[in-house]
Amino acid sequence: MFVNKNFLSLKESYLFTEVVSRTEVYKKKNVGKEIINLGVGDVKKALPKVIIEAIKNAVDEMGDEKTFRGYSPETGYNFLKEEIIKNEYMNFEFDLDEIFISDGIAADIGNILDLFDKNNVVGICDPVYPEYLDTNVMDGREIIFLDCVAENNFCPEVENVKKKLDLIYICNPNNPTGIGMNKDKLQRWIDYANENQSVVLYDGAYEKFISHGNLDDNKNNIPHSVYELNGAKECAIEFRSFSKSAGFTGLRCGYTVVPKNLVREKINLNKLWTRRQCTKTNGVSYIVQRGAQAVFSSGGEKECMENIRYYMENAKIIFNGLKNIGFKVFGGQDAPYVWFEIPEKYSCWEWFDFLLNNFGIVGTPGIGFGKNGERYFRFSAFGKREDVLLGIDRLKRYI
Ligand SMILES: *Cc1c(COP(=O)(O)O)cnc(C)c1O
Repeated sequence: MFVNKNFLSLKESYLFTEVVSRTEVYKKKNVGKEIINLGVGDVKKALPKVIIEAIKNAVDEMGDEKTFRGYSPETGYNFLKEEIIKNEYMNFEFDLDEIFISDGIAADIGNILDLFDKNNVVGICDPVYPEYLDTNVMDGREIIFLDCVAENNFCPEVENVKKKLDLIYICNPNNPTGIGMNKDKLQRWIDYANENQSVVLYDGAYEKFISHGNLDDNKNNIPHSVYELNGAKECAIEFRSFSKSAGFTGLRCGYTVVPKNLVREKINLNKLWTRRQCTKTNGVSYIVQRGAQAVFSSGGEKECMENIRYYMENAKIIFNGLKNIGFKVFGGQDAPYVWFEIPEKYSCWEWFDFLLNNFGIVGTPGIGFGKNGERYFRFSAFGKREDVLLGIDRLKRYI
């Protein structure tokens, strides 16, 4: 019997446990003092009413033998896929069998690796959402980090790639920096992937938060979908989630697009993913899929957008507040995260302790997202307005 020892190479996911334990120590010492949490990457606002109505109706259907449903189709109900194609991919002519509904994309992003040999070389942005790295470490693949630093506006440059990459992860807009990659730069990655027979794994979890999507200057637009780029259907898989955009982090629903044009070594990846999903899943709850369908109703769209605007207004308050105090601040315009430089005399964790002990503010040390995050800190805009205002107000004492 042999255990997968690649797991032993994973860095202890100590970031969030360490954040929690240091916060607990502070709470014990400072009973009654209010903590402002700008660390969490989870939504706070309640689900829109039309979504709740749709879910309640679906529950009633399940309680009546005439409308009861058993197993759902493994890749999702057509009623939801049709809405996704009509609302999200109107100009891209996708068929129903190119859209795969899932219980959130964290699962898909990890599971997609079933399709790819363990000898592939993987390019991962630094800093970025930690799942891409960890899932590949579990499989033992070679990782090449793509630097995202102030000099390249936190978007990696394909011209700096030293070794041929087979899999390329792009999180656009990026978590944790809150910055989006423009079409011009992304096109070069797409061209690279097609020239080198690589596959781009494109995480669009924050697509609905983009504000630079319709600039006059098309090259600087941040794409809402990777398929806006020439040749993307031949090289890219896109992941989209209802989690952050519609408040589904607890309900669980997302989708993955695997185009039928995506062929490597004469093998159609859409066929492989279909086979994989039909074997290893039994679909997503009917009730949740009815809830997701309601996201696309006019009422649903309106309420979801209101919540997104609320979070992005928080981001603006955090961004401007930090900037006025004198910090070097980035992001916060195309994703609900603000990324800022730590004052020179502090290390990442010293800064964490300083903010907590002096201002009662909790944030996320940038180092948790990669080596290049060492001199940075992330504030999340997924909080209550009062907390955001109070936090910035307290920080003014920093000057
Ligand atoms: C939150 C998040 C996810 C996870 O999405 P789920 O659909 O809830 O699994 C994926 N990618 C990024 C970048 C995220 O921030």
